[in-house]
Amino acid sequence: MKKPMKEFIKVISFVFCVFPFSVMAQGGLDFDAIEIRTVELESNVHILMGGPAQGNVLVVSGDDGIFIVDSMYAPMHDKLVAAIRAISDAPIKYLVNTHMHGDHTAGNDAMAALGARVIGQENILPRLQALGAGNLPVLTYKDSMTLYLNDEEISIFWPESAHTDHDSMIYLKNANILHVGDIPSNLRYPNIGIDDGGSVDGMTRAARLVLEMTDADTRLIAGHLGPLVPRVEMTAQLDMFAEVSRRIQAMIDQGMTLEQVLAARPTADFDEARAAGAITPERFTGLVYTDLSRRP
Ligand SMILES: [Zn+2]
Repeated sequence: MKKPMKEFIKVISFVFCVFPFSVMAQGGLDFDAIEIRTVELESNVHILMGGPAQGNVLVVSGDDGIFIVDSMYAPMHDKLVAAIRAISDAPIKYLVNTHMHGDHTAGNDAMAALGARVIGQENILPRLQALGAGNLPVLTYKDSMTLYLNDEEISIFWPESAHTDHDSMIYLKNANILHVGDIPSNLRYPNIGIDDGGSVDGMTRAARLVLEMTDADTRLIAGHLGPLVPRVEMTAQLDMFAEVSRRIQAMIDQGMTLEQVLAARPTADFDEARAAGAITPERFTGLVYTDLSRRP
C-alpha cells in the first residue's frame, strides 16, 4: 500500500503544480461563455473584466499607443483585442504583468505577436522561465520605472515581495488610479502565492503601502472582481490577516498539525463575509499555515 500511496501523492502534487499553468489555464473555464465587460474610469482609462477567475485588464489609450496591464488566459485573446479595439485603434505597445500567474500572463504571447512589449519586475523572468513559459517580458526593472504616454505619467513599481516575489503595481498619476494586482481581495479570501515568493507578511506590508501612498480619492483597481476595491476593504483584509495569522501562529506554537488547525476553523467568524471565490476558508487556512510554518 505504501508505494501506490506515494505515487498517488506525487500525481496529486504534479497536478497542483502544473495544472494552473497548462490544462487548467485552458480548460478550467468555459471561455466561450465569458463576455468581457468594459468599465470606463476616464475617457482614456478603462478596465476590461473577464469574470472573477481572470485578472482585470487596465487599458490606457491615446495617440502614443495603448498600454495595458495583464493579458488574461490565452483563449480570451480575441475577445480582449476586440474589447480594446472598441476603445481605440492605436497599436498595443506595452503590456505589464502584475505577476506570473496564468490568469494574468497566459495571453502574453499573442499580445507580443501584435507588437506589445511585455514588461515585468525582474524576478518574474526566472519564475516564468522555470515554467517553460514562452511569454517572457522583454523589459524588466528592479524597483520602479516610469512611462510617459498619452498625457499620463505611468509608474510601475515593486512593493517588495507580496502576493509573489515579483508583483508590479501600476500608478497613473494624473488619473490618480492604482492597479494593485492580487494584493487585495474583494469579499473573499486573498490568494497567497506561497510557492512563488509570496507571504502573509509581504501581502500585509504591500496593503499598508497602498494605504499610505494613496488618498481617499485614489481609485484602487483589484486584480480580480471589483473592479474597484474600497479602502475599507483593504483595511478589513489587514485586520483579518492579523487576527487569523495570530490564531494560526498560536496553534503552530502548540504543535498542531494542519489537519488539527483546519478542524479548529480559525477563520470561522470571517467566513460569512468571505465565502465567495476559489480561495475557500480551508484553502486560505492551509496557505497561512504553510507560510507561517516556514518562518525561520
Ligand atoms: Zn495571482
